[in-house]
Amino acid sequence: MWIGQRWTGCIDVKGKIALNRPELMQLHRPLKILLLISDTGGGHRSAAQALAEGLHARLGDRVQPVIVDLITDHTFWPLNQIRYTYRPMVNDALWLWRAIWRLGERPLVVGAIGPVFAPLTYRPISAYFRQQNPDLVVTVHPLINHAALRILRRAGLRVPFATVVTDLVTAPIAWFNPQADLCCVPTEAARQRALRHHMPPHKVVVTGMPVSLKFNVPEVSQEQRVAMRRQLGLCPDLPTVLIVSGGEGMGPIEAIATAVAERLAGAPPRSAPQGQIVVICGRNQDLQRRLAARAWPTPTSVQGFVTNMPDWMMASDCIVTKAGPGTITEALIMGLPLVLSGFVPGQETGNVPYVVDNRVGAYAEDPAQIARIVTEWLKPGNEELARMKARARALVRPDASLVIADHLLNLIPTPEGSASAVWKSRALPLYER
Ligand code: UDP
Repeated sequence: MWIGQRWTGCIDVKGKIALNRPELMQLHRPLKILLLISDTGGGHRSAAQALAEGLHARLGDRVQPVIVDLITDHTFWPLNQIRYTYRPMVNDALWLWRAIWRLGERPLVVGAIGPVFAPLTYRPISAYFRQQNPDLVVTVHPLINHAALRILRRAGLRVPFATVVTDLVTAPIAWFNPQADLCCVPTEAARQRALRHHMPPHKVVVTGMPVSLKFNVPEVSQEQRVAMRRQLGLCPDLPTVLIVSGGEGMGPIEAIATAVAERLAGAPPRSAPQGQIVVICGRNQDLQRRLAARAWPTPTSVQGFVTNMPDWMMASDCIVTKAGPGTITEALIMGLPLVLSGFVPGQETGNVPYVVDNRVGAYAEDPAQIARIVTEWLKPGNEELARMKARARALVRPDASLVIADHLLNLIPTPEGSASAVWKSRALPLYER
């Protein structure tokens, strides 16, 4: 097994290719890389898109990443409905989510996922794998980590298989499949968890959390922030708080936005508001409709699912969010202090101390308390806000998707197969002779 070798080429976010695998420049056809996700929340798709960006930045059109929600698009009812259960369960039946999480923390249960799901879903998924004939398979979701590898091997496809973990600290143990060739984790805490759950140490690498390279911009100046507010139709000179709650728009966003708006508007008679609000509702269209129909006491922009999150973050001074790992990492890269307003028990539990202990934000569930914190932060010349911004940028790795792309590409066997005897059986029509 060879996974140790790293690129010696420089990391260049402008898309120049700097590889020490020259044979990858002589491919007959693009490398096909399957990125397996499930659209539960928005984070897994965002991470897969970030990996696709990283791979393209390295190999241009010599790589063809394919993002696929395997469970929704290639299994059958009722399995293919799983993604639609996530928001209702977390919003309205948290006890059920907690019970599932606890079950999922039992090694015996996780050990049964592959043997149970692989035979059940073998036909459609193996047919899809054979039709795609990938050169590398990467899972970006814990649920499919075990069954997908089993099916791949049973279908006779001896391609490398990697996992990219997108939970910062309390990662579900289903992420860790010792049979995988590589496991990229975002933090040292996640690495320790992987090792405790029997991942061979040489397969686990701390890479940072994959987020889009579009977040990887130099420190945002006040002039740039003002210009971006203007571009987005916001008041250019008002301090801005961004309120978001994952791709699904979960939790008490309305109560939080109401409390923050009231507080920023100040006591009557209201003359000049202290700040403005952007509320991003994600895929929660009911919430978007309700909020858009309301009158707000301070300037408020209500958005649905946005595809330009870096712009909205660039326009903002701080963010209120549930403890989603994607949003947390994106905000930290952009230097935005965070108020965490809640967390999904289990995989997001550890994200709260990650933010609070690293002094890049606060935790508060009560909308009135959130409003107090935000109003304090947005006061002109708040020095703690400036310190938090600096700590935030220092905490994360903005080029993680490039680093992970390099590790993934290192799994592609050499034409001779000499360094990767495991893949000897694989024919190599991929390379020019
Ligand atoms: N997101 C987005 N548009 C939206 C709302 C969210 O692109 O309107 C993205 C956000 O930038 C992040 C992801 O969705 O990349 C949310 O991931 P996170 O881990 O924070 O939470 P999840 O939705 O997975 O629970």
